[in-house]
Amino acid sequence: MHELSIIASVVDSVLDSLPQYPGARVLEVRLRVGALAAVVEDSLQFCYELAVRGTPLEGSRLVVSAVPARVYCPACNKLSELENLQSFRCPHCGQPAPDLRQGRELQIESLEIEEAEVTP
Ligand SMILES: [Zn+2]
Repeated sequence: MHELSIIASVVDSVLDSLPQYPGARVLEVRLRVGALAAVVEDSLQFCYELAVRGTPLEGSRLVVSAVPARVYCPACNKLSELENLQSFRCPHCGQPAPDLRQGRELQIESLEIEEAEVTP
């Protein structure tokens, strides 16, 4: 499953950054997912729950923020959101617009961490 390997690498990179915050608890991991990234949010959530079990991320939330696909059209000289993901055409003038500028993202946008209380 595609989503499982994505989640595995997301969890790995969060775990890598945790030593900077000793004793901290991860509350939320926010992912930016492009419309063309070809992942299903339900599967991401399902895989996340499995992947975080037994790790410091257990109990944290995965939040997926969807990024629409946008192409640049030289005729209109602007970025437009694709209406049809199957055909890369400018929604304004109908010209082919293969210059995809946004929509393949698959990255960690932010982490919400509860830092450990420091007792002197
Ligand atoms: Zn156009």
